[in-house]
Amino acid sequence: MTNKDFQISNNCFDLHVHSHYSNDCKSQPKDILKMAKKIKLSGVAITDHNTAKFHREKWKNKELLIIPGVEISTNRGHVIGLGISDTIKKKISVEETIEKIIELGGLTIIPHPFDFTRKGIGRKIKKLDRVVVETLNGSCPLRRFNEKAKMWAKINNLSETGGSDAHRIRDIGMAHTVFDNKLETVDELIEEIRKGRTKIRGTNLSIAEKIVRTFQIHF
Ligand SMILES: [Zn+2]
Ligand SMILES: [Zn+2]
Repeated sequence: MTNKDFQISNNCFDLHVHSHYSNDCKSQPKDILKMAKKIKLSGVAITDHNTAKFHREKWKNKELLIIPGVEISTNRGHVIGLGISDTIKKKISVEETIEKIIELGGLTIIPHPFDFTRKGIGRKIKKLDRVVVETLNGSCPLRRFNEKAKMWAKINNLSETGGSDAHRIRDIGMAHTVFDNKLETVDELIEEIRKGRTKIRGTNLSIAEKIVRTFQIHF
């Protein structure tokens, strides 16, 4: 399955995409935006690992809302600050990272929390409130990691997002977040997420795809 197999409806956003500023990714900004437009996404969040260099380039696009963000490596795993274009120190605690995200005016998303193969924060999530759970990560190798995240969000009444975690252009949009209304600004989008007004669509890569991807990246 590729992102071409999807019928992307209105108001769909991929809220977890990497660019070449992540050391495990080669996607060029112009190609990311081109693909996002091609598959008719309304916007993309670029959430590189521990850097906001993409957002310093001030990319703009008439047809797409480009949402700033950073995926931070805490001492327990990955945490996304959405709506921030500043880097936060690596390897500090999850709690300190969340405080910094709040100080910067961002929203905390816990990506792939139960994916122990890809630095999910795991049981640490039990101690957290004021966070949003990524309940569909397009790059999770097993569907049950996402199912567990979905269950966790439901039981604890936490808002949800979905994102591809694309490290290749062709994976953009594989998982995405759908909103009821047209969103013009990043603030509006974050407010809708805070209120839990999101629907999650898409799928995760198959294990075969995942292996291919790993080999493409590292060899
Ligand atoms: Zn991650
Ligand atoms: Zn990621």
